Amino acid sequence: MLFRALAVLAVTTAAAAAHGHDSHAHEQSILANDEITVNLDVREHWMRVAIQALYDLVSPCPFSAFGTAVVNHTSSTGPGELICIAANTIADDGNPTLHGEIAAINNCTTVLRDSDGPFKLSPEETSQAWKHLSLYTTAEACPMCATAIRWAGFKEYVYATSSETLMESGWPQMSINSREVFRRSGMVEPSTAILTDVLYGETDPLFSWQFDSRAPCPAGCSRRVQGEACSPL
Ligand SMILES: [Zn+2]
Repeated sequence: MLFRALAVLAVTTAAAAAHGHDSHAHEQSILANDEITVNLDVREHWMRVAIQALYDLVSPCPFSAFGTAVVNHTSSTGPGELICIAANTIADDGNPTLHGEIAAINNCTTVLRDSDGPFKLSPEETSQAWKHLSLYTTAEACPMCATAIRWAGFKEYVYATSSETLMESGWPQMSINSREVFRRSGMVEPSTAILTDVLYGETDPLFSWQFDSRAPCPAGCSRRVQGEACSPL
């Protein structure tokens, strides 16, 4: 069976939200459960896959450095199985909903449904698959994406850079963060656990240069003219 049945996660979104976001303290322990233990090394591995999605799908320094990886941690005893990657592709597409998380839901739906692919799921099976999957994103989801994650019913939602850090770096944000969206989503089953601040030390610099001409460019990029945007070398 592709997605083996899981006991319902004991962790509730309310419990996750209760940890708040007072600091960059790691909160991995909030996701521990009896059936699956995913250690920090594995979490960081998959966050690096979300970062790599930017390189693979856009460039080493996309302006909107929002990359995503969707992983099945439940299908094996190993580090997990990658289902799909995605990145924010609004600049290429013009579709304003194609944030990294929405793009990932779209891409994974295609992968899961593909009659020539490894899964070949029906629409009903696809709808049921999300509750076994974990979504990794380089930055905290906006309300649109947080809502989509909750409607999908992902098992876990893991982010790196916080919305507070994005705002401090000059990124316009809606004044409701994903933790608040999750807190208000209690009627929607199943619950989705939140894991915050995973590998933010590697993702924060991906968002620091766009609105600060003095900030260094990500590796593999430079400012050809002082004060201009970072671009690939
Ligand atoms: Zn979004």
